[in-house]
Amino acid sequence: MNLIFLGPPGAGKGTQAARLSEEFSIPQISTGDILREARKNKTPLGQKAESFMVQGQLVPDEVVIGIVEERLRESDCQNGFILDGFPRTTAQADALGQMLLSLGRQINQVISFSVDDAAIISRLSGRRVCSDCGASFHVEFSPTTVDGVCDKCGGKTYQRKDDQAETIKERLDVYKKQTQPLIDYYSNLGALISVEGQGSVDDVLNASKALCHLRRDFS
Ligand code: AMP
Repeated sequence: MNLIFLGPPGAGKGTQAARLSEEFSIPQISTGDILREARKNKTPLGQKAESFMVQGQLVPDEVVIGIVEERLRESDCQNGFILDGFPRTTAQADALGQMLLSLGRQINQVISFSVDDAAIISRLSGRRVCSDCGASFHVEFSPTTVDGVCDKCGGKTYQRKDDQAETIKERLDVYKKQTQPLIDYYSNLGALISVEGQGSVDDVLNASKALCHLRRDFS
């Protein structure tokens, strides 16, 4: 099963993708995570992406398209994948279509998560992420047991720079201008399902699975 998770920042795409990835043993491909890792390791890719990410802007299309092209060719993607945070522009969606065509594959389903702006702002501004394993917490809704310490691996949690108030607003604007048009794009291809992303993690997950009839044998 080849899936795309679409939605504004803070819609819960990453959380849902992690759960489904585990359940169906297919990789979660988060371009945001790949870019953050590159920044952490100060690689040329990370240095190229840095200024865009800090400002809440999109990293240039050709950079992220190259990352995904390489990643989809890896052997663990043979049985499927979940694209989390890609594509984010029409040019990326077109490039993905070409990529998959050349690999003889196609997208089975695009799940669009909708969450209103107020909830997004509250989710993102309270989000804390583990610097070691990437697990995500929220100061109010799912706090760590010990302040600043990851419950999963004991690593240090931190607030992403782009989760600070002024950058959240920029990211939301960027989403509306550049990514939201993909809802129509995939809807016109008959691949889109919309899920209300505001409930509990379990409710949203169950709604996603029910709506797209996810099955283990989905090819
Ligand atoms: P995310 O963790 O998905 O919210 O991504 C964090 C940041 O990484 C975004 O604000 C962008 O700067 C960059 N990024 C992630 N995915 C993409 C993408 N598909 N296209 C362009 N920039 C991206």
